[in-house]
Amino acid sequence: MVQVVEPATEEVMAELPQAGVDEADAAVARAADAFPAWRRVEPAERAELLRSVAGRIRDHAEELARLEARNVGKPISDARGEVAMVAEVFNYYAGAPERLLGSTIPVAGGVDMTFREPLGVVGLITPWNFPLSIASWKVGPALAAGNTIVLKPAELTPLTAIELEKIVVEAGVPEGVFNVVVGSGRVVGERIVEHPDVAKVAFTGSTEVGRRIAARAAETIKRVTLELGGKSANVVFADADLEQAAAAAPMAMFGNAGQDCCSRSRILVERSALDRFMEALEEAVEGIAVGDPLDDSTEMGPLISADQRETVASYVNGDAPVAIRGRAPEGRGYWYPPTVLCPVSNDDRAAREEIFGPVACVIPFRDEAEAVRLANDTIYGLSGSIWTRDGGKALRVARDIETGVLSINSNTSVRVSTPFGGFKQSGTGRELGPHALEYYTELKNVYYATEER
Ligand code: NDP
Repeated sequence: MVQVVEPATEEVMAELPQAGVDEADAAVARAADAFPAWRRVEPAERAELLRSVAGRIRDHAEELARLEARNVGKPISDARGEVAMVAEVFNYYAGAPERLLGSTIPVAGGVDMTFREPLGVVGLITPWNFPLSIASWKVGPALAAGNTIVLKPAELTPLTAIELEKIVVEAGVPEGVFNVVVGSGRVVGERIVEHPDVAKVAFTGSTEVGRRIAARAAETIKRVTLELGGKSANVVFADADLEQAAAAAPMAMFGNAGQDCCSRSRILVERSALDRFMEALEEAVEGIAVGDPLDDSTEMGPLISADQRETVASYVNGDAPVAIRGRAPEGRGYWYPPTVLCPVSNDDRAAREEIFGPVACVIPFRDEAEAVRLANDTIYGLSGSIWTRDGGKALRVARDIETGVLSINSNTSVRVSTPFGGFKQSGTGRELGPHALEYYTELKNVYYATEER
């Protein structure tokens, strides 16, 4: 059995049967059987089904948000925002089936045309930090393009994926098109990756598991998209609006209790502005409301598990001094206070590894060149921010930083209509926006001879 625990109370909130290889194989077989009919569903009808999924998610928004908040331990206000985005994702990709355009290419003796074809059965493996959102970023474009799906959610947080499966079926998507299998990564995840009838794997999670998936998927030449870890830089220049940068920084580090691949967990601050920035940051961090995820005013909840808390704590009390420590509840629940280390060398373990908890590093820099060098001195390249009032400098630095998603005078990373994904060891492929469709289709070229021979 899979015991699903509520991180704020440490209580078991659900018990589910645990799938193994046989259940994974059965799900792949169902998806393979459903593929020929699903790929032939008229584009307008597929679009309508996706709109219907979006509508049903809106109808069930509050219960989905509460389930996600309890299971992940995330603030209910965040969970509501995420569920609203999930509905938007399905609505956005409802626009795709009728717009999957090919092209014609001038050639001799005939007509040459391209088609975007579905891949077949796609295996989706998702993490515990944003279970429903990350699933939707994969499910939306996969269905729109005519694929069928086997989704393996993280065992720690499978509940909203199970609800999504019900919603998709209720919306009228034929049985077998979308299949959720709850089992461990080592068993069900690996089986999906090695299964010869799975055409592609889309994975979000740790770089370590991503590496293993890429290697195993190579055996059957599967298409792979990987959205992996991050150690993103929030670069604050002395000429920025420092109050605004400091006020925005805490939620960019501690949103989702820091368990966010886009977390700006390295704040690079121009040395001449360090004292002013730290003063404003201290006030902002101490004001973070940490507590019951179901309370509307909560800004940060607990960590996902006791193991995660232990890992996070191992990064504190190393070489870098603790400069700021916020508050966290005591007693039951996997609580950890928001913590800022400063000054930190970019060579410290806390600055090099993805902590995935509410511990961030402040790293001072001298000038623009050093800021870029430090920002890029990491194996990762997922997101990041630049704060400055100098537009030319902002764009120069944005072009030089090796990262997939960057914002200027803002800490946002994700929008439904724009591409999301990493450089370097943060992954390969893109999710969201029109770009995601490229990763759920194969390009086919057809030549039609028109000249008599
Ligand atoms: P994992 O990468 O292990 O898990 C992510 C998903 O992959 C889960 O569904 C998991 O299943 C599955 N999985 C695990 N092993 C395999 C495998 N061999 N083959 C196929 N699928 C597999 O992340 P963790 O949950 O262990 O978290 C560890 C660290 O990873 C975090 O501390 C954080 O640093 C990073 N992480 C990064 C994320 C990101 O968004 N960048 C998201 C999650 C984690 P199951 O857990 O059910 O066994």
